[in-house]
Amino acid sequence: MKRMLTDLDLKGKRVLLRADLNVPLDDKGNITDDTRIYMELPTIRYILKQGAKLIICSHLGRPKGEFNQKYSMFPVAQQLIKYLINKIYFAVDVVGPDAMEKAKNLKEGEILLLENLRFHKEEELNDLYFAKKLASMADVYIDDAFGTIHRKHASIYRVAKLLPKNGMGFLMGKEINTITEAMENPKRPLVVVLGGAKVSDKIGVVKNLMEKADYVLIGGAMAFTFLKAKGYDVGKSIVDDESLGVAREILEKAEAEGKKIVLPIDVAATETYSPNASARCYDVDKIPSNLMGLDIGPKTIKLYKSIIKSGKTFIWNGPMGVFEFSNFSKGTEAIAKAIAKTGGFSIVGGGDSVAAVKLLRLENKFTHLSTGGGATLALLEGAELPGLEALTDVKEN
Ligand code: AMP
Repeated sequence: MKRMLTDLDLKGKRVLLRADLNVPLDDKGNITDDTRIYMELPTIRYILKQGAKLIICSHLGRPKGEFNQKYSMFPVAQQLIKYLINKIYFAVDVVGPDAMEKAKNLKEGEILLLENLRFHKEEELNDLYFAKKLASMADVYIDDAFGTIHRKHASIYRVAKLLPKNGMGFLMGKEINTITEAMENPKRPLVVVLGGAKVSDKIGVVKNLMEKADYVLIGGAMAFTFLKAKGYDVGKSIVDDESLGVAREILEKAEAEGKKIVLPIDVAATETYSPNASARCYDVDKIPSNLMGLDIGPKTIKLYKSIIKSGKTFIWNGPMGVFEFSNFSKGTEAIAKAIAKTGGFSIVGGGDSVAAVKLLRLENKFTHLSTGGGATLALLEGAELPGLEALTDVKEN
């Protein structure tokens, strides 16, 4: 277990907070959605309340290692001012004279927001000299940027190593602790539901979670790669041919070890990939060669619902079909509602499945909506997470 910010003495300390304030901007540089800023406020307020001097750093967009006014953090500073009564300073550089001077003069309860970390190519190169300069501004390091935890960047990895008085912010703590709890210590049965388009993105997740879960239900375009690997003719459905070999290996391993990977038994298919396409349902051994499957079918929905009903813990990532098209959203809707109805411990990750849950106004019925994208998948995959590895364990206290 990694330390939380609440385990650290922050009084009078200079605290460097690595946040994810990567907000979307319009052409004129206005913030179009400030959710990430708003979500960061509890961590910011907690640190300030302890009497710390707070230095915040983040990346914004992809400025490719050089200054670009379009990706300045200045609008973020202006937005923070709207939410906080504390004094907020903005540094026009990251580790330059302005940042250093303002960090040195910072008083308890004040905030300094640094310019975009990615204006320096050293950030993504995990450069030691750059990290040393960043770390020199602070006594304590808090990481709350869950979405970048799988990246070995200077502000995420090296700075944490250089500042061993470190811990997780509230957002990251919730992500790590909730997802880890579901994977490592679940109330059983643990039901994993995986969908979406790209098998290659999720193959590691299937491999890791099939060892831990009682059931892995597969849907989305992913399912067709597995069905083809089993020898079915899937017509014009999307198949990731490069992943066929691994899919076959996974199915063989699952069978040999008695793991329950469940594939669709029927699908909703159509001729063309279009929003108005009408759906016809076929058992998986009868998919016409000129059609493509865009959703799981009614028999599969019934099967998956009955398994979900018996579950106590759920991890769901990826829609069951092209839920953006009304005729192919039934599978995703049914799964979302079925998980919500159980009242179990439930985690949903991945932009599309989270969007589906929100569209159905079910967000309050899920235990946790993960924000991480690639970071969530890396955590579910059991991959090495530099940002987490670099943080200090609680027991080292
Ligand atoms: P991912 O980013 O891998 O979670 O994929 C999400 C996307 O997968 C969504 O935009 C869905 O429309 C798409 N998707 C899900 N099922 C299918 C399918 N059977 N065929 C094509 N696209 C699909």
